[in-house]
Amino acid sequence: MAKAIAKKNTTAKSAAPKKAAPAVKKNTIKLSFDTLHYAPAPESKSSAKIDAQYNLFINGKFVKSQSGQYYDTINPATEEKITSVAEGNAKDVDIAVKAARKAYEGVWGKMPAKERSKYIYRIARMIQERARELSIIETLDGGKPIRESRDVDVPLAANHFFYNAGWADKLSYAFPNKNPQPLGVAGQILPWNFPLLMAAWKIAPALATGNAVVLKPAKTTSLTALKLAEIIQEADLPPGVVNIITGNGSSMGMALVNHPDVNKIAFTGSTDVGKVIQKAIAGTNKKLTLELGGKGANIIFDDAALDQAVEGIINGIFFNQGHVCCAGSRLFVQESVYPEVLRKLKDRIATLIVGDPLDKNTDIGAINSKQQLDTIQKYINIGKKEGAEIIESTCAMPKKGFFCRPTLFTNLAQSSRLVQEEIFGPVLTIQTFRTDDEVIEKANNTPFGLSAGVWTDKGSKVFNMTTKLRAGVVWANTFNKFDPTSPFGGYKESGFGREGGMHGLAAYLRV
Ligand code: NAP
Ligand code: MG
Repeated sequence: MAKAIAKKNTTAKSAAPKKAAPAVKKNTIKLSFDTLHYAPAPESKSSAKIDAQYNLFINGKFVKSQSGQYYDTINPATEEKITSVAEGNAKDVDIAVKAARKAYEGVWGKMPAKERSKYIYRIARMIQERARELSIIETLDGGKPIRESRDVDVPLAANHFFYNAGWADKLSYAFPNKNPQPLGVAGQILPWNFPLLMAAWKIAPALATGNAVVLKPAKTTSLTALKLAEIIQEADLPPGVVNIITGNGSSMGMALVNHPDVNKIAFTGSTDVGKVIQKAIAGTNKKLTLELGGKGANIIFDDAALDQAVEGIINGIFFNQGHVCCAGSRLFVQESVYPEVLRKLKDRIATLIVGDPLDKNTDIGAINSKQQLDTIQKYINIGKKEGAEIIESTCAMPKKGFFCRPTLFTNLAQSSRLVQEEIFGPVLTIQTFRTDDEVIEKANNTPFGLSAGVWTDKGSKVFNMTTKLRAGVVWANTFNKFDPTSPFGGYKESGFGREGGMHGLAAYLRV
């Protein structure tokens, strides 16, 4: 298959859609199923070639937007333009939803689950085959370190397709009635922090459950979703089953939310926009899942293995520049070990390298946009004004691009805006505590409830904390571990509904 992809990519004509195929072609099934494990696929030689322009993917074809307009996508590490992407509008949404509806009512809706599964599996294999290309483009467009794109985003995206491929023909065993039904057309809206991974995380369960999809990636990071569209086209998924449209959130995204023929909205993004969407679809009978912001508490007890804990804290806040909804952005340290932990943290942040995201040695890449860098800077200034103590690394900084030093704040009040609000950058607040009850009270005292981490040698303490921390996920002696089998989602203003695992499938079914 690797060869076939490389060949097809060279000619624009061969990218033209084929007629809706009711079932996977025999010869390609053989190639797709040459191994059945999740190990890396043999990589193709596909290079990270970027075209001068990218169009919308509707009904199996790449098409110009109705307005004919394009927006620039830039590399946040250089501030230079990468390419142009089609600017969709409400008319494009309507065309995409019609294509999705037709596919759902037609070939896709009638296809046996076992056949659906083969397409999903094939997409997973093709992501593996194009892993290098996808990693490079993810890093160029979004600014995250290449090590992360290569070792986390892309393999995990493939795993979401693998995992959900396995579910497609087993739904009737797992859900209460014998024949759970898809919802129809799902509108999916993505944030910019894990562009390909979020696309996989949303598309794979929707396909496994038999729905058709219209997906909108974030404007600053549309490229890997469009590369996924190429893969979907190569995989011969029937036209219209997945449509990927690019454009502005407040206009085109809103048009998708409001489209009367969409049955479900799956949104990942900020709490503010989540609330706008919640209001917009009230009373429409559309199903909704919201994956929103967070303010994760990472808690170090005095019996923890401190070196391991410090590594976990560093990973918890600086992974992906802190652009992580479940980032461990608040650290709580038990008083007796506070001086030692603080010293270890200071020593560790001094070693972190901020710089070129394409360099394999880089720990912290570029902030995704100028706007996000300004937001982070605003919070750093608030912290200084509030009289908090700031500890910034003194690492060398690139001359160009959007970068931020790893930053720690101590001496903060629980009511501080830095403790209460999501910063979404490489900024960690540090507070102390004496008792379990005190830290539970403080950890739960924000509007969010997405993630938490507990560092302790005592199993009983882990179990006590997991029942009392109001967070969708509580990690013990680790942090930021993701797996397609686990449901993921929040309490309170972090949203509702779960994605991933069996619960994530239920969100796309009438059971
Ligand atoms: P955002 O500003 O809310 O944008 C998210 C997406 O919604 C983008 O595609 C955006 O389009 C679109 N959008 C904006 N306004 C809209 C509207 N009125 N109607 C429909 N769509 C609209 O969030 P972000 O800045 O991209 O992402 C960061 C946020 O996402 C953080 O708060 C983070 O915590 C959260 N997040 C949560 C999870 C989770 O699983 N809980 C995971 C990742 C991120 P544009 O392209 O025009 O911006
Ligand atoms: Mg970009």
